[in-house]
Amino acid sequence: MARNRYYLTPHWRSLKRACHERDHWMCTVKGCQTPTYRLTCDHIETRPNVDHPTELDVLGNLRTLCLHHDAQVREQASGERRRQGKFINKGSRADGTPIDPGHPWSK
Ligand SMILES: [Zn+2]
Repeated sequence: MARNRYYLTPHWRSLKRACHERDHWMCTVKGCQTPTYRLTCDHIETRPNVDHPTELDVLGNLRTLCLHHDAQVREQASGERRRQGKFINKGSRADGTPIDPGHPWSK
């Protein structure tokens, strides 16, 4: 979806920062080990493409994703999410638990 002017506003910038701080600047896909310096803030429920804050622009509707996982579920021009919003993670089982028993998420 094309960027719109909302993403330039202080409202969005502060919300995005709060989201990343809540998520400890890490991708929220369980077991993801992608480096943390390439993050995006994803709306779980897609916001309308308008340039003002909406009821969907709240911390509870946001999650931190790495660019890899963001690309997996990014909305298409049709508005549908790729892969029906499901993530692929080669290092984990279908339920998200890591295959590697030494991974911190295994504990
Ligand atoms: Zn990730």
